[in-house]
Amino acid sequence: NSKHQTPRIPASEPFPGFGNFFCRIPFHNRSVRTDSTQWPECHTRPQRLRYPLCTGAQDSAVPGCLQRRFSKVSQLSKQKSPSPPSRREFLRLPTVCAKREHVKQFAKRAFVLLVLFPALIANASPRRSRRGDPRTFYDVTSYILDFRVDPGSHLLRGAVTVNARVVRSGIDSLVLDAGDSLQITGVREAVSGQSLKFKHASNRLSVALPHPAEAGDTLQVVLEYTRSIPEQFGLATTGIGVTKAPGGEPWVTTSCQLTGAHWWWPCKASFFHPEDKPDSIRIRLTFPDTLFGVTNGRLVREVASEPGWKTNEWILHHPRLTYLVALYVGPYTVLKQPFGENGSDTLFYYVLRQDTAKAHREFFPRIPDELRQYQDWFGPFAFWDEKFALVQSPYAGMEHSTAVAVGPIFPHTLRPGEPNPLSWYEEYFNFMAVHEVAHEWWGNAVSARDWGEFWLHEGFATYAEALWVEHLYGPEILHEYMARLSFRIDSSRTVYQPRHKNAREAYHLNIYWKGAWVLHMLRYVMGDSQFFQALRAFNTDPRFRYGNATTADFQAVCERFYHGDLSWFFLQWIYRPGHPHFSVNWEVNGSDVKLAVHDTTFSPNQFRMPLDVILDTKAGEERHRLWVEPGLDTFELKAKAPVVTVRPVGLRWILDGPKTGTMTYFTDLDFIKGTFLDSLVFTNDRKLFVGG
Ligand SMILES: [Zn+2]
Repeated sequence: NSKHQTPRIPASEPFPGFGNFFCRIPFHNRSVRTDSTQWPECHTRPQRLRYPLCTGAQDSAVPGCLQRRFSKVSQLSKQKSPSPPSRREFLRLPTVCAKREHVKQFAKRAFVLLVLFPALIANASPRRSRRGDPRTFYDVTSYILDFRVDPGSHLLRGAVTVNARVVRSGIDSLVLDAGDSLQITGVREAVSGQSLKFKHASNRLSVALPHPAEAGDTLQVVLEYTRSIPEQFGLATTGIGVTKAPGGEPWVTTSCQLTGAHWWWPCKASFFHPEDKPDSIRIRLTFPDTLFGVTNGRLVREVASEPGWKTNEWILHHPRLTYLVALYVGPYTVLKQPFGENGSDTLFYYVLRQDTAKAHREFFPRIPDELRQYQDWFGPFAFWDEKFALVQSPYAGMEHSTAVAVGPIFPHTLRPGEPNPLSWYEEYFNFMAVHEVAHEWWGNAVSARDWGEFWLHEGFATYAEALWVEHLYGPEILHEYMARLSFRIDSSRTVYQPRHKNAREAYHLNIYWKGAWVLHMLRYVMGDSQFFQALRAFNTDPRFRYGNATTADFQAVCERFYHGDLSWFFLQWIYRPGHPHFSVNWEVNGSDVKLAVHDTTFSPNQFRMPLDVILDTKAGEERHRLWVEPGLDTFELKAKAPVVTVRPVGLRWILDGPKTGTMTYFTDLDFIKGTFLDSLVFTNDRKLFVGG
């Protein structure tokens, strides 16, 4: 069965015969391909269930076309020298099929594009769904946070000063997010000290203003509260938690991407409103003097406190999402590493005292190189005037800005005897530091304006993993890494998350893995030079850096460097579900090559993508870029010399979805481990619980 797929063609053979690469070029010559004649997995169920935006016409059109084509393929493939008429017939098939359904297809697709899709997007627009939301009546300009962490009594005592500018005239209350686990003990005006009435219920805090506020007014309100600190192992799903460090000392940490910061400090939570980033945040942290406390921003001073306690103060000069604020109190020490020209910058690593040797070993050789690469790919680090820091955490990781949580290189993220699902990643490329640090560019400096655009955080950070793997191990491993990422993509869902009320509802693994694939394919379409220029321009654009952006903003930047329209690309890959499943067939006659590109998922093909094909000729290698268009999938190429082999190398750059059946890779590289997929799947299932 596998013989006809990768025919061995003697170099002297003038007519190499019929080639058939199904879906993806084998990673290695010895790869075993078992799926070429199986019915595609996506057709085992009615297609409209799996692809909600598909039209019914495809459902009826696909099986017939496919069946005919598949039977032709298998017939032709079995023939050692297929006769010319049947080859031509094969190459004509898609055209016949397309004509028959053309009008119906066009009408249905137009309906989906012009009516359903805009309605879907409009329905999800934050402007519409948030009309009347009292949290949009003001804009937070800054927070002053005063935290006192007492692990002995499991208590966080806090005072949050909210500085806000009113944007809606006539409001008589200031409505904030405050989880029910907070005990609000008092609210007062910051300047006058006047106590203000408040109501705290259903995770909202409504503060009565002394008199109605007008647009342009500034409000300064101090919220005092306490919060019990629960015993929490792993990611603090309660926002804040305490566990024991290996030496028995208390270890308090926070993490709240999928719960919201308001579960440990009252605020206008980015969990609901990512578009309102405060311009600055000042944090004052008090903790027992046997421990050390670290948080975001630049350390400005350590101040005297009452006996037995220490206090330090930190400042964030730049806007941030509220979930990026974090505190860590435990038996920490700090390692410093000079960085940059003449060591002008410093990298800080806050780690448990007993882990300094391991941290030194893991971080010092790798992190500077990682930062240099990121600055090269994405633009300068945005927060040098605050700090760059990694902080050891009892959970896998989180992109807390300038205090990035990383756990799994240390043994304390797991219970005794529990296998480490991330050990593979950490061993080969320091996975968690790579992913979470990338968020300093993608998510922390440039943030999504709406959680429907969550992939601007996670897809970019995930593609940074792939870029880093490529940097370390070369392009073959890049493609292998991307192939692995495609295993768990849910093709029935889009990358854009249209129906959501908050970050948790918008959270889906497609924003990671399909998001990364979108960038991978965009790089392929645009070319490396233009792609990386666009990434840097997008990240450093003053409209977006320290602010918010949308997919449309990113598209516009890409189009500027691409010098062409990319709306088709973003429409098919971000706003629509699904993916093609291209198979390429060809025949060679001297220096003439006929190619047929068949999408076995959607027929006729709905995806537009370039397909790079290399022709190995007797005079050398020729590279051609074919544009596979909806309804156009046959090509004729004329080489400068007789063609020996045809290699559709572009296939590996195109997402073709989850694999079915067993794929066995035989490779000389130790990099590919049998445990890889297991760990990936395991990590996927645990993703909500280990990190973001
Ligand atoms: Zn992430």
